[in-house]
Amino acid sequence: KKKLCEVDKEVFDAIENEKKRQNNGIELIASENFVSDAVMEATGSVMTNKYAEGYPDKRYYGGCVHVDVVEKLAQERLKKLFNVKYVNVQPHSGSQANMAVYKALLNTGDTVLGMKLDHGGHLTHGKNVNFSGKDYTIYSYSVSETDELIDYDALEKLAVEVKPKMIIAGASAYSRIIDFKKFRDIADKVGAYLMVDIAHIAGLVAAGIHPSPIPYAHVVTSTTHKTLRGPRGGVIMTNDPEIAKKIDKAIFPGIQGGPLMHVIAAKAVAFKEALEDDFKNYQQQIVKNAKTLADELEKGGLRIVSGGTDNHMMLVDTKSTKGLTGAQVEQALDKAGITVNKNGIPYDKEKLMVTSGIRIGTPAVTSRGMKEPEMKKIAQFILEAIKNVENDEKLQEIKEKVEAFCMNFPL
Ligand code: PLP
Repeated sequence: KKKLCEVDKEVFDAIENEKKRQNNGIELIASENFVSDAVMEATGSVMTNKYAEGYPDKRYYGGCVHVDVVEKLAQERLKKLFNVKYVNVQPHSGSQANMAVYKALLNTGDTVLGMKLDHGGHLTHGKNVNFSGKDYTIYSYSVSETDELIDYDALEKLAVEVKPKMIIAGASAYSRIIDFKKFRDIADKVGAYLMVDIAHIAGLVAAGIHPSPIPYAHVVTSTTHKTLRGPRGGVIMTNDPEIAKKIDKAIFPGIQGGPLMHVIAAKAVAFKEALEDDFKNYQQQIVKNAKTLADELEKGGLRIVSGGTDNHMMLVDTKSTKGLTGAQVEQALDKAGITVNKNGIPYDKEKLMVTSGIRIGTPAVTSRGMKEPEMKKIAQFILEAIKNVENDEKLQEIKEKVEAFCMNFPL
């Protein structure tokens, strides 16, 4: 039995370096998290060796007795977690979960109404470079220019005008509560399906901190690796038996072959963890941390898009308050050992690779055990780095302080 370091030193070193990077830096990417050792163990298990095309008890391969156990566990736990009747735990990613919904409910060319990418939507909600924008007729709704919140009146007007077959709610960069009932009322008015993509807020929804879309949506998709703190992957949920059948066919044989059984095993573990009482405390702390961080950055003179946050993330307007692009700030923070991503803000005039802001999220730092006092400290690091974007020496000094700070919260 040879170890990875003996078989492939280059990959081994890269993994060790990544471990150090994750340990020594402050991870503020809103879509990332640190999974438990148990989730990691399942992800790295022998389940990766098994082909299991089909669904539990209806496979196209022999020897599926044990993978059936884990897929059924994942299904049952997910149903309980979100109080929903039908689930598919096989999507390899959030994007594939979304693609399966398009394939299940629409024909090529059908009209879809999704949130504009630079107003918080995801690529799969209709961006022209994505399958969604290429294969379907897309219209996009926006946030209002005045309060930067979803403009439900304008959304309704647009829906009445373009008569979409499906409306998508959910976002990658929206820091406020989404009103799923309003979305459903609009969908009903125009005879559209309502798909809700809770990739970002799934953990908050599971813990009851963000209202659930399950009572309102025809179908709900999610990733499993963000606030939900599972392995990378996707899931689809619905209460409609006919939609459930179409979804299963759309995933397999529609767009996937063999499911990633090691990932499904890890999903089962993550859902078990999410059903424990402690998970609710964790999600509550994520939100408290995000509020504290937003307040502190605001006190330091940065503008928070929409004036704050109700969930795990915030968008920070670096351009109007500090005259810096998102790209400049992302780079400076990187040098200071703090990882964020540049992000367009609503009505941004800068290009996608430049942007006027950054997106910050607290799921990962909260998993390390950080609380409000640490958020205040992180805000100080960020503000200090922003003051010194051109000063590499100063950024290096901050990096050393960041490393010492992180030592108190080992992964
Ligand atoms: N949906 C939303 C709202 C997302 O934010 C993301 C990822 O960032 C996805 C879907 C896609 O997930 P994946 O990266 O697993 O394809």
